[in-house]
Amino acid sequence: MSEPSVFTRILRGEIPSEVIAETENAFAIRDIAPQAPVHLLVIPKTERYRTVVELAAGDPDLLSELVGLANAVAAEHSDGDFRLIFNTGPGAGQTVFHVHAHVLAGGLSERSLGG
Ligand code: 5GP
Repeated sequence: MSEPSVFTRILRGEIPSEVIAETENAFAIRDIAPQAPVHLLVIPKTERYRTVVELAAGDPDLLSELVGLANAVAAEHSDGDFRLIFNTGPGAGQTVFHVHAHVLAGGLSERSLGG
């Protein structure tokens, strides 16, 4: 059995981070190193799926639940418009292999993708 992920440890309260919203199967936190005026993470409570590709294949309803939670937190913490990013694989910058979506929001319309 591998070590629990950083996000599982946050969910258990072992690492401090405020859970800003949650649904039955997912939760949201602020990213510790924000890359946008609003930078949130939406995360399944299970760490069974390492990437969005695995999640889409294994539990599409849970993927849909994540998108709904992203929409809700973007509306609550910004103007409702947002970018949803799943880094997939180390070459794309994924560092935590417990699937999660980055929700970026707040004055992004002037910025190009990745800028
Ligand atoms: P990835 O690089 O896997 O796409 O995204 C992982 C994200 O998790 C990074 O943006 C990183 O800043 C964030 N992160 C890593 N450790 C912690 C932590 O302990 N607390 C919070 N709130 N975010 C974290």
